[in-house]
Amino acid sequence: MRSLLLAIHLVILPLFPPLFAGPLGLMLPTDNDAIFSADPSKFYMYTDRNFEGVQSKPWQGGTYGFSRNQKRTSVGIVYTRLHEGVDIRPVRRDDSGNPLDDIYSIMDGTVVYVNASSTGSNYGRYIVVHHDWGYGPFFSLYAHLSSATATLGQKVRAGQPIAKMGYTGAGINRERAHVHVEFNMLLSDRFQVWYDRHFTSKNNHGIYNGFNLTGMDIAALLKAHRANPNLTIDQFLASQELHYKVLIPGGKKLDFLRRYPFLGRNVNSVMFPKSWEFSFTATGIPLAIEPNKQQVSYPTVTYVKPSGTDHSYLTAGRLSGSGSTAKLSPSGSRYMQLISDSF
Ligand SMILES: [Zn+2]
Repeated sequence: MRSLLLAIHLVILPLFPPLFAGPLGLMLPTDNDAIFSADPSKFYMYTDRNFEGVQSKPWQGGTYGFSRNQKRTSVGIVYTRLHEGVDIRPVRRDDSGNPLDDIYSIMDGTVVYVNASSTGSNYGRYIVVHHDWGYGPFFSLYAHLSSATATLGQKVRAGQPIAKMGYTGAGINRERAHVHVEFNMLLSDRFQVWYDRHFTSKNNHGIYNGFNLTGMDIAALLKAHRANPNLTIDQFLASQELHYKVLIPGGKKLDFLRRYPFLGRNVNSVMFPKSWEFSFTATGIPLAIEPNKQQVSYPTVTYVKPSGTDHSYLTAGRLSGSGSTAKLSPSGSRYMQLISDSF
């Protein structure tokens, strides 16, 4: 009996447990620490909102998640537009109102991308820093910069200045100057091939295009890390809420699972399953990947958290339908193609 239990235990272990996995060593991206205070309105930059003719400047528009584009539905007002990062307001400005804040790397890492041009991206000038503590590559992204002070390839420490706050990019002005910060997983190493299938415009940012980076709840991560400085990324993701599951055609190894092996469940029992079942948060963050015996010829939704309103409002438009069933929308299908390297 004991050996049977041991055998079962071995089967459910991930195939490649991280060898040198460690805590995040997370720090705030600016001197603004009001996210931990009783008044988060001092942390977040507001958005300009116009809803049914009423103008407002809610700070909640700067939070992570579904915080923008209100819609009145049968279940009340829902916010349908996903904001994949946080917008942090400046704590210092010069006499003209220009922000003076330094931007710090939130963890030890390496600068892997600097977009020095203020045009050519909604992010404006932005920097991407690569981090790895044994769980695969993760990427912090800092946007709307006035200037980048770190250079491509530079190794940086948590808390080291890498840029100056600004207001470059789409839909932003001096009054709303802020840094937009994301914490991402990389969807595909072959992003350019996917991009060329779906877009005619030029991709100026290689694999560090925003479409290829999926941003998790960085505010929740900052708070969870403050409560537990030994927090690891797999522990954090395990705390995030499941919203839907998708079966993706199998028959091959998943590059995404090679990159993030800690997401695998039962992967050593079947190497080439008929399909892979991905579990996602509402915002599209993968929480687990598990082999499945069901054959599918295209990505198929197998579970969705029941809703009285259109699933598209709650999933950044990746699902459609309502109630307890859903389908992938065209954009949802493209997202599944990208994450499963099937294009
Ligand atoms: Zn933002």
